[in-house]
Amino acid sequence: MPILVTDFDGTFTRRDFFDLILERHDPPGARALWDRFLAGGMTPFEGIAGVLGSLRTDADGAAALVAAMDPPPGAAAAARRLQSAGWEIVVASAGCRWYIDRVLDGLDLDFTVHANPGSFTPDRGVVMELDPGSPWFHPTLGIDKPAVVRAALQRDPVVAFAGDSALTDGPAARLVAPGRRFATGQLARRFAADGEAHQAFTAWPEIVERLLA
Ligand SMILES: [Mg+2]
Repeated sequence: MPILVTDFDGTFTRRDFFDLILERHDPPGARALWDRFLAGGMTPFEGIAGVLGSLRTDADGAAALVAAMDPPPGAAAAARRLQSAGWEIVVASAGCRWYIDRVLDGLDLDFTVHANPGSFTPDRGVVMELDPGSPWFHPTLGIDKPAVVRAALQRDPVVAFAGDSALTDGPAARLVAPGRRFATGQLARRFAADGEAHQAFTAWPEIVERLLA
């Protein structure tokens, strides 16, 4: 069975959950924490977990952020079309399973999800945790995306990858054939600048169109 391994925030959805927290809630200290991560002062896991844990809102406020992640029109239909054609869809995310499951449930989609576990409470925000017992554990990202892709390649020679981050998606994207290496946003700009072969896309359903063409 061919496999599409896809990033979630900014790839399957148009927005990143942590970015929506910064933009809509601007919690005290969160922007400074994120700037410290960008300056190299902490790991990606610590940076993302720090912003997620800074959120202070009620259940409705958290649900509003989940709704704002904004999967593009047609994403659910495209995913079902790909699955009907025999593809498995695997999410590999350095973000948190808490909101990923909610977005997928809202679309009535059934993907395999490899992401950091977590939970939400109004007084602690989204608490994202490392899972050292996971076969995909990575100490600084939480999830080892190249390991997810390598395992997929052991199951089937046809594996596609889609992502938007040079840091968290680039190494995994390079493991698949250039014709199945889908990139958007910053990752696409990086591949273009470096002259690395890739398939640029703007909205996730385009990937399905090209895989089934
Ligand atoms: Mg992303």
